[in-house]
Amino acid sequence: MKALVAIKRVIDPYVKIRVKADGSGVETTNVKMAINPFCEIAIEEAMRLKEAGIVTEVVLVSLGDAIVQETLRAGLALGADRAVHIETDVSPEPLTVAKTLAELCQREAPGVVILGKQSIDGDNNQTGQMLSALLSWPQATFASTITISEQTATVTREIDGGLETLSVDLPAVITTDLRLNQPRYASLPNIMKAKSKPLQTLTLSELGIDAKQHTMVEVIEPPPTRQAGVMVESVSELVDKLRNEAQVLS
Ligand code: AMP
Repeated sequence: MKALVAIKRVIDPYVKIRVKADGSGVETTNVKMAINPFCEIAIEEAMRLKEAGIVTEVVLVSLGDAIVQETLRAGLALGADRAVHIETDVSPEPLTVAKTLAELCQREAPGVVILGKQSIDGDNNQTGQMLSALLSWPQATFASTITISEQTATVTREIDGGLETLSVDLPAVITTDLRLNQPRYASLPNIMKAKSKPLQTLTLSELGIDAKQHTMVEVIEPPPTRQAGVMVESVSELVDKLRNEAQVLS
């Protein structure tokens, strides 16, 4: 069974984000980029399924401009077998990504598609769900454990009320939550090996996908800066301040 893993290139989660002066987006020039953390978890899970003899091939896919190939090579260094780069100059919205992945699924016929539950830049949390709808494949989102046997995946999901376990027929779309696994580091030999692994490039038009944007970001603003705190001398002064100055007790 083949596993298709969708990975997104995002700003490294440990970098302090700077909003562009004109509010058109966030600064990415000379900023360290990384594989979206939830996508790294998706690669790790696919690798564990391969190591368990359940998956036979791990294929990575990413949409973006040419630099995305760097991210795909980083994913190949984690052990994936090959990668597909879908070239596009615009940053594609979730529906475009989902349509593209759906088309790729028709060509690649994976037994399972693993995505991150959300990309940490847009915080959309949409692509996996849209992909499942477009393919009419079952979905199991926010996975914290995945067990695959025969033609079924049993997935424990992290939901507001606790944990939910469900079974889905394969092929299925699964999205990863934070506690699914701890991704491995790429070893030096694997980084070297990744350089010569197959990486295919396709364009959106070759896949028959129209990259029409349905949403437009009006403006991006940094959060308001926090005001400095004050030290109070006593509990009664604190209560007085809470009563008279804070919104919470009024
Ligand atoms: P989102 O719906 O944007 O929060 O993204 C959820 C997941 O969809 C990500 O964790 C990736 O697995 C996948 N995804 C989103 N954008 C891309 C992209 N440009 N290329 C490949 N996969 C993507």
